[in-house]
Amino acid sequence: MNQLEIQDFLIKNVSKLNGVGPKTKKLLKQKKIEKISDFLLSFPKSYTDRSNIQTLDKLEIGKIATIKVKVVKYNFPRIRNLPNKISCEDEKGKIDIIFFNSREGYIKKILPQDSMVIISGKVSYFKKKYQITNPAYVVPLSKQSYVDKIIPKYSLTEGLTEKVYRKLVEKILEMIAGMPEWHNNTILKKIGNVSWSKAILNLHYSNDKNLHSKYYNRVAYDEILANLLVLSQIRLRIKKNKKNKKVFNNLLEKKLLNNFNFNLTKNQLKIIDEINTDLKSNNKMFRLLQGDVGSGKTIIAFIAAANTINSSSQVSMMAPTEILARQHYKLALKIFKSTNINIDFISGKTSIKEKKIIYKRLSEGKINFLIGTHAVFQKKVFFKKLGLIIIDEQHKFGVKQRIELSNKGGPNCDLLLMSATPIPRTLILAIYGDMDVSRLIEKPLHRKEILTLSKPEEKINEIIPFVKKQIKNGNQIFWVCPLIEESKILDYSAAVKKYNALSKIFVGKVGLIHGGLKNDEKDDALKKFLNKEIYILVSTTVIEVGIDFPNANTIIIENSNKFGLSQLHQLRGRVGRGESQGTCILLYKKNLSERARKRIKILKSSNDGFLIAEEDMKLRGFGDVLGFQQSGLKDFKIADPVHHETLFKIAEDNIKEIEMDVRNFKKYNFLLKMFDKADIINKIKFE
Ligand code: ADP
Ligand code: MG
Repeated sequence: MNQLEIQDFLIKNVSKLNGVGPKTKKLLKQKKIEKISDFLLSFPKSYTDRSNIQTLDKLEIGKIATIKVKVVKYNFPRIRNLPNKISCEDEKGKIDIIFFNSREGYIKKILPQDSMVIISGKVSYFKKKYQITNPAYVVPLSKQSYVDKIIPKYSLTEGLTEKVYRKLVEKILEMIAGMPEWHNNTILKKIGNVSWSKAILNLHYSNDKNLHSKYYNRVAYDEILANLLVLSQIRLRIKKNKKNKKVFNNLLEKKLLNNFNFNLTKNQLKIIDEINTDLKSNNKMFRLLQGDVGSGKTIIAFIAAANTINSSSQVSMMAPTEILARQHYKLALKIFKSTNINIDFISGKTSIKEKKIIYKRLSEGKINFLIGTHAVFQKKVFFKKLGLIIIDEQHKFGVKQRIELSNKGGPNCDLLLMSATPIPRTLILAIYGDMDVSRLIEKPLHRKEILTLSKPEEKINEIIPFVKKQIKNGNQIFWVCPLIEESKILDYSAAVKKYNALSKIFVGKVGLIHGGLKNDEKDDALKKFLNKEIYILVSTTVIEVGIDFPNANTIIIENSNKFGLSQLHQLRGRVGRGESQGTCILLYKKNLSERARKRIKILKSSNDGFLIAEEDMKLRGFGDVLGFQQSGLKDFKIADPVHHETLFKIAEDNIKEIEMDVRNFKKYNFLLKMFDKADIINKIKFE
């Protein structure tokens, strides 16, 4: 087979292998081995050293031994459940080989009377005699070399024996042994200068467990490249669709900026520029605006909306919850007051009668700007000329959903996603490589750093006077009780308990919100808090993402050691948005773990969401940071953005090179298939 034929073979189903019938296929599937190449990417979990042939006087009980012995005597007891016993010997001693559930004929075949054999297995001792029970290997002398070596051990499943598995892997490994390389020399040199086949062979056969060796890197690189390649192909496909350029002047934008009682930061202005360039170009905008909580993304989105409307198109903006959507709506009404822009609001709660009116006015182009929850995308909603979709706090959308959204708006619609989830730089590419990304790093000038303190839980009473003082000054407090037990009911009960206790101290000033409440009840509690009817809001972790409570300046987080860094930072970001100094108090149970101590230390020393995200990734590893199931991207099987950051950078440059020649896509299609990425592209419908 030539290289292409081998590649083709590798991405075929395992059933194409000799010896893999429906039963083995099913077992392999349990081990996530479906394609032939999956064998190669499932590295041994350890190795068994069978390389030293030992004489029977040197055996150690409990250890794996490989022995060369003569078959002396059979003992086949014809009683159920008693094992077959075969006595063997060498010049130094005797041993029994024990077989449970084996047939006489089979034993006579692999252990012919008086013959010399190689046997390998775990040594035990029974009635003053060595024995090996159900040996892993029994082979004639002619096959000695097949056994007496370091043998990779794979994680198997019941019904799949080491022998069968090893045979399959070996056959494939043999096949790829001289396989030509697909990367050019420049790239190869950068990633360790080993060919793929050599790397794979090494990972299976050498007893080198360092998974960050050049061999491991080589294989990880292809996975990273495949991942970025998918996103870049999606990106190219999106860019291929031409849209009508939006034509607008900067008068409206200027007017709005003048109306604010603050100046936008340089960073904000730069991003507005980037967005304007997108709107005016004839490529569809597909942009992520990423910025820490409170960094001022909403204003940017509203300017983008204004310019789109100025170009006589409509805009829709979606937020994940009713209350957040309403907050945007109220702010928009305020900001656009002195303009003739028509804004409306829609949510699940909007009456059918009202909805009908909204639908009609939208289709006539009478509403310029529709703000709401998921309701803005209901089937019945038709815009006369939709030019921009804005999605706030969207970090739960995967690649596929992003494209569907972009398609929903029609050929001339731009897309702006906003996310407050700080994503480490290495991950941005892996998750958002299909989009343009604007990062809002600078914070509005007036914003003070939130003061972060920590206290052991026993000293909770020391906080009460502080809380009293805050309330006296008209400030509000979030009191967070996280999930402690596995059971949700217990979880609520912790919050309920705290609510009851605090209600006795702060009579009539405490509210409660948790996941067990209906949406209406949650909204109600939040509204009361927003309207200052209550001063302390006890909650589990459900405090709405992104909602602006400028009057809340203190957050108290119980059991803070149960949260991840990024999560604690997000929670902390709920406060300190107004004039008065924000404070975050982290309560912890005694005997903090080293990690928890580290987390608290990092939080106390920094308010920078991006830095915290990087640290979080280092502490937890990358898989946990975002919850990848949610993002719709499959986890990396081999690569790890924490350890392979350099490889990501190399791949990024490599992608640019690959993109220059369309023929390359075909060349690397093999990688996409090997890493199960090809389907993503095929499943998505592009406009
Ligand atoms: P987020 O990025 O979390 O969506 P917002 O857009 O809600 O942040 O902004 C948080 C608060 O900061 C709002 O009250 C907003 O009016 C204010 N803000 C935004 N930009 C600036 C700025 N450049 N200077 C001062 N305040 C600003
Ligand atoms: Mg926001």
